[in-house]
Amino acid sequence: MSQRLVLLGPPGSGKGTQGTLLAAALAIPEISTGALLRDQMARGSALGVEARTYIAQGHLVPDAVVNAMVRDRLGADDAVRGFILDGYPRNVPQVGVLDQMLDELGWRLSAALEFSLAENLVVERLTRRAALEGRADDSEDVIRERLAVYHAQTEPIARVYRERGLLKRVDAAGTVEDVTARVCLALGVAV
Ligand code: AMP
Repeated sequence: MSQRLVLLGPPGSGKGTQGTLLAAALAIPEISTGALLRDQMARGSALGVEARTYIAQGHLVPDAVVNAMVRDRLGADDAVRGFILDGYPRNVPQVGVLDQMLDELGWRLSAALEFSLAENLVVERLTRRAALEGRADDSEDVIRERLAVYHAQTEPIARVYRERGLLKRVDAAGTVEDVTARVCLALGVAV
């Protein structure tokens, strides 16, 4: 059966890493809005230029921009097999927009996986990633802002999916392998 998954969790919870592993194992595309936006910025497109100021400050890029990007990507041929959305939806209005897109396509989500990690571990991981990857939005001030945005705007999404019976929580502490094992257990898949 096709897996159509949404990954939730704070920046630094490892959802990107797990999303990439899972997408490869299930042979379905990983659709990361953060990665798509960074790609647009690297190419210097109009969309990238618009997104840059929001991302640099740790704020969300306007919904209209991100929604259009996801709509486009879900329309590509490979999404028919299933997909993993990493970083979208990011606020409650985006949940509604995704619902509408999926309705139009005749698809239903399989699950929303929420990666949970204590705040001190989140900050530790993001600080380490800053040193390794040099992402401009991994500086201390911007990390703090991104976490505030996460709590205010993204965390409430979990409740919406919980009420629909779609939420599966995964403890994101430990090694990459530990977390992958928990993800597989939660989804009932083998990687
Ligand atoms: P991420 O790689 O998922 O941490 O995303 C990096 C940045 O891209 C975020 O801090 C936001 O500025 C922007 N971004 C990614 N996904 C979204 C989204 N669904 N809605 C709005 N902004 C987003």
